[in-house]
Amino acid sequence: MSSVRFDGVKVPLLLITVFIIIMILVKNSHVLQRFMVNQEIRLSTSQYEVTSTEHFDVKYLPIDEAYAPMVAAVAEDARQSVSGMFGEQPPERTTLIIYPDSASLAKSFGWNKNAKAMGVYWGGSIRVLSPGEWLKEPSQEAFIREGPVYHEYAHLMVDEVTEGNYSRWLTEGIAQYVEKHLTGFEFASPAVRNREVTLYSLRQLDKDFDSLEESVAYWQSLQIVEYIVDHYGEAAIWQILNDLGDGYQIDGTVEKTLGLSYERFEDEMLTALEKEWIRGCKV
Ligand SMILES: [Zn+2]
Repeated sequence: MSSVRFDGVKVPLLLITVFIIIMILVKNSHVLQRFMVNQEIRLSTSQYEVTSTEHFDVKYLPIDEAYAPMVAAVAEDARQSVSGMFGEQPPERTTLIIYPDSASLAKSFGWNKNAKAMGVYWGGSIRVLSPGEWLKEPSQEAFIREGPVYHEYAHLMVDEVTEGNYSRWLTEGIAQYVEKHLTGFEFASPAVRNREVTLYSLRQLDKDFDSLEESVAYWQSLQIVEYIVDHYGEAAIWQILNDLGDGYQIDGTVEKTLGLSYERFEDEMLTALEKEWIRGCKV
């Protein structure tokens, strides 16, 4: 077998080739990323209980035992209704983890323990904060209306259909669009608090989403998706996702699906959103 030397150690070429192939797969493979996230979840939640429904494995600590059936039932409904909107087959099984408090949810991602999130989608799995932490009187209706499950399941479907090839604004816009449609929940417009128009470019929303003013970045993401739906029809959104899944870049699929250049789309969309912002100030 051929071999090369690193620091005086002989390493067979076959091993190096396998290592390089693995590195390429780690960078590019959606499937491998999910596999690794799954392994990490298995290790980090080995102390958790599990309740399994037809399509979900819900993991929780004993303190949240009373909420597990409700969360699982809502997750089953979200799977059916969200995938129905997408017109796509959802994954057969999904792991959903209930964390007892914000600190443990944040810690599962290595985030600052003060980070606040009610739910997170990552690598094929959904993590939610226990309803006991944020609902005064937990009920299924309130958990559907105010909870994160529909939003996070929409992120999962975007990831599924595009095979991981999506812009941050697109997945946040679609998750809020789906959530608004199915549960009625929508964040208040930031225009109510701020009269001055502060809109971001698509590039900023794509590259720096987490360093932007959060309320504006989320609001604008939903507005862009609604702008596309209003002007080109909802089918355009699903077409864009399918194209991304086929390997198109966002500018290429916007051009193909909406029939105008990405730059012109951005100009027209920002002009419309500016009017929307000014309208929002008057509410
Ligand atoms: Zn989101």
